[in-house]
Amino acid sequence: MTHMCDRCKREIYKYTKCSYCKRVICFDCVKSSQKGTRTQKLVICKDCWSNMKRRKAYRSKRSGTSTEPKA
Ligand SMILES: [Zn+2]
Ligand SMILES: [Zn+2]
Repeated sequence: MTHMCDRCKREIYKYTKCSYCKRVICFDCVKSSQKGTRTQKLVICKDCWSNMKRRKAYRSKRSGTSTEPKA
């Protein structure tokens, strides 16, 4: 079963969800992701990244320096 990326409309097998616009997106459309608080993972898509408010919110939630890309 496949999904479709809400951003680039590509068919994808693995997907993630943007923490801000809540769309299902492929990994190519992910601008950045990080471990948020506890188990919550923060993902920001390229569209939200160009949105200043959302980018700021994303950055302010950065905890520590760990930016290991974990799927
Ligand atoms: Zn995409
Ligand atoms: Zn988004």
